[in-house]
Order: sequence, then structure tokens, then C-alpha cells
Amino acid sequence: MPEDLIYEGKAKKVFATDDPEILLHRYKDDATAFNAQKRGSWKDKGKTNATMSAAIFTYLEAHGVPSHFIEQVDETTIKTKRLTMLPVETVVRNVAAGSLSRLLGFEEGRKLSSPIVELCYKNDELGDPMLNWYHFRELGVSDEDLKFCEELGLKVNQVLAPFFDERGVTLVDFKIEAGRDTGGTLMLADEISPDTCRFWDKVSGERLDKDRFRRDMGGMEEAYAEMLRRVTEITQRGAVD
Ligand code: UDP
Repeated sequence: MPEDLIYEGKAKKVFATDDPEILLHRYKDDATAFNAQKRGSWKDKGKTNATMSAAIFTYLEAHGVPSHFIEQVDETTIKTKRLTMLPVETVVRNVAAGSLSRLLGFEEGRKLSSPIVELCYKNDELGDPMLNWYHFRELGVSDEDLKFCEELGLKVNQVLAPFFDERGVTLVDFKIEAGRDTGGTLMLADEISPDTCRFWDKVSGERLDKDRFRRDMGGMEEAYAEMLRRVTEITQRGAVD
């Protein structure tokens, strides 16, 4: 399939294909944090992010959550539908960490009494601020689209929190994005990986996600490989059972 680079981001490249409705997302080993002020790279990060996203999108589809995902093409590349993205990052949280701990003064690790959903404006210049519905309306994002994001976030959490729990991992929080296909249908998009989720080992509390990089903890390669192993090995066994 001929490839035509249409976008290069911090951690991935997106290519157009000869089918105008289909894109390729190729995940890189590069990472940035704090709005690209911090940069790094580690082995097999792109492979983990592509392969884990593929496994999770497949699992979500089987549990009633359609997404842009079509198939994994190679170790670091997935094929997707082309969507028009909403400028919204939906964050769902089960346990206090990161910016929520700062916002509410909660100690990291405090279990929330029920999941919290936050809607953030996808805008690097502004640092992806959390906005309310009035702000979004002013920016031209409809209430219906925000309602879709909230419900999607809660549904993804409902499916994935037990999925990770069975694999010995607490799904602390995660960020998802959504977009519209050419027929106008909204669906889940982007990626679901240790770059976009907080994963804590249920027993040791060890962090198995991008916080290791953000917080200079080291061991990113091992943590990403461990998360990929837990997702794919058990998923494959589950498929045979
Ligand atoms: N997140 C993300 N992209 C962003 C901001 C956050 O994927 O631009 C994810 C992050 O990995 C975490 C969740 O969203 O799983 C909540 O992040 P938080 O708001 O606590 O931000 P942080 O503390 O990382 O600045």
C-alpha cells in the first residue's frame, strides 16, 4: 500500500493510503512529556503501543465499543478508519493520581468512590486545559458530542477496569479520544497504551506506564514489555479457552 505521511506527532506518524477512508498509524519509540519539554526514547515502545492498542480495541469491539481500529499491519503499525477528530480528550479516573491529586489535594492512590470523568480541550498551546460545557459550547463543541465522550469514557472504563484487574493491574486512569467517520458516526479513536493510561501493579503498586519516564524513575523498557506481556499473553490464552 503506498504511504503518504500526513502527520507526524510526538510518538507516532500517520500515513494516508490509496483508500481515502483508511489511515496507517505507526508508533515511534520516542516519548515526550510536559508538553514536549522533556524528551526520551526506549526500545520497543512503538511495538507495545501499537500491539496493546490493537489487542484492546479488539477486546472493546467484542464488548460493544466500536473504534477506528481495523487491523494491525506490522509490529508498530495499525490500520484505522479515517475520522474527523473531536478536539476533546476524555480522562476517566478510578484512583487519584497526577493532576487530580493536585486539583483536589488527594494523596496519590486514594480510591475514588466512583469514576470521575474530565473533559479537556485538545490544544497543545493551552496545555490541554480541563473545560466545562459552557467553554466547549463557545468553542463549537456540541453538548451531544460531550455527552458521547462522557458515556464512551465510562463504558470503556467499565470494560477495561476488570480486564486489567484480571491481569494483576489497577487501571488508575486513562485518556481517550473520539472522532466521526464519513457517515457521521462518532467512535473511539487514537490509542490505549501505557502512554495514555496509568497502570499500577495490584500487589506491589509498581508503576507500569509513562509515569516512569515523566518522573525519572527509569525501567520504562521493562515496564512497557511487562504490560504488553500481561495484555497479549492472557488475551491469547483467553481466545483459545
Ligand atoms: N494523559 C494523556 N495525554 C495527555 C494528558 C494525560 O494520555 O495529554 C493521560 C495520562 O497518561 C493519565 C491520564 O491521562 O493516564 C490523566 O493524566 P493527568 O491529568 O493526571 O495528567 P498528568 O499528571 O500526566 O499531567
